[in-house]
Amino acid sequence: MKFILAVLVGRVVRFIGQFIGRSTNLPGSIALRICPDLLSRMIFDGKVIAVTGSNGKTTTSNMIAHTLRKQGYSVAINTEGSNLTPGIATTLLCACRLNRHVPQDYIVLETDERFTPIVFSHFVPDVFVVNNLFRDQVVRNGHPDIVYDRIAAAVHSGMTMVVNANDPISQRLAENSDRVYFGMERTSRSAEQQVFLTDDCKVCPKCFHKLRYHYYHYNHIGDFYCEHCGFKTPEIDFLATDVDFEAGTFKINGQPASVTYKTTFHTINATAAVAACVTAGLTIQQAIEGVATFQVSNVRYDEMTLCGRKAVLMLTKQNSASLDQSISYALEQPEEKTVLLYVNNVLYSGFRDISWLYDVTFERMKGKVDKIVCSGDRAYDLAVRLREGGFADSDLVVVDELGKAKEMVENNTKGALYILAASAFGNEDGILEALK
Ligand SMILES: [Zn+2]
Repeated sequence: MKFILAVLVGRVVRFIGQFIGRSTNLPGSIALRICPDLLSRMIFDGKVIAVTGSNGKTTTSNMIAHTLRKQGYSVAINTEGSNLTPGIATTLLCACRLNRHVPQDYIVLETDERFTPIVFSHFVPDVFVVNNLFRDQVVRNGHPDIVYDRIAAAVHSGMTMVVNANDPISQRLAENSDRVYFGMERTSRSAEQQVFLTDDCKVCPKCFHKLRYHYYHYNHIGDFYCEHCGFKTPEIDFLATDVDFEAGTFKINGQPASVTYKTTFHTINATAAVAACVTAGLTIQQAIEGVATFQVSNVRYDEMTLCGRKAVLMLTKQNSASLDQSISYALEQPEEKTVLLYVNNVLYSGFRDISWLYDVTFERMKGKVDKIVCSGDRAYDLAVRLREGGFADSDLVVVDELGKAKEMVENNTKGALYILAASAFGNEDGILEALK
């Protein structure tokens, strides 16, 4: 009875919540109060695929769901911003029947790293994808080692792990379980030496001697080895090769593949999605077909014309690896450009940390962009960080009111405009519309 009551109340709250913007977490939260073991009572008729990691989990989850739907399967997926236990409960109470069965062919659940042991104490996903682990909102999450321990506590027998072979931190999660490794071979953008300030794995996590690399894709992601204990990139089951970033084409295990969003980061995510879909039952051709037609949400990437100039808007997370990837993308484009950085603040949640700005390798932009425009609540913190990094005041434009941004950009900068928005909670308060 408690189960049925929780589901019905949850659905009513969700219906009403849609009108007041409280439909993601509140319904699940109330349902869990009525029936604390709501999630344990559900019976999954299909397969559950869970996705976690510091960066790229939303896109990878959406890519997996898109690929499965393209093959005609019914799929339930949690929407962005509902990756904590209450949000997952909301998704599942809407997907399930009153007889406790969740009838969809597949359930795809983006899960916050810290919440994986809580969610998976109630049910065990069939496939568990871990994209990567980076330092990310350290005040909220803790150091990557702490996050690693959290996820390690969520690994159970019965699940197949899909892990990034090029990430020396998270790939160890799969050592004692059924596992599939994805990864990428050296590309034209791989580097022999570390070029980023943030390197979360300088030391071998097994024996604590120096970890060495044949090449880096970005930050600590690459082909690594330890001369002391033999720890190294494992043999890769789903390997991306022959990557042509200009064309957006590559191969997975020798089969031609493509992506619509042509970055290092997205190519690795697409390989992860293919690995997950094949592990969940698709053929590799079906999986490759799916990721080829996937469009990244225009909330995350959008191109437009502003003031008669080309403009690209990219949304990033507030962590160094994520913003570094967007800076890399801007720098890889050949034209003259201005970079507008937007960093907002999360005063209302009590996390005022801006130390992560000192982990971002802004210095790579020296001499390669016309101007850097600093905007958002943290415009002055950004400007201080950039000045610390050796940028001259004449390289910077500070916009303390977003309303003035257009005029300042028009009068003071040249070239294509790359707007890199590092927002704490996605497109909160419609900042993307305001920036446009
Ligand atoms: Zn070692």
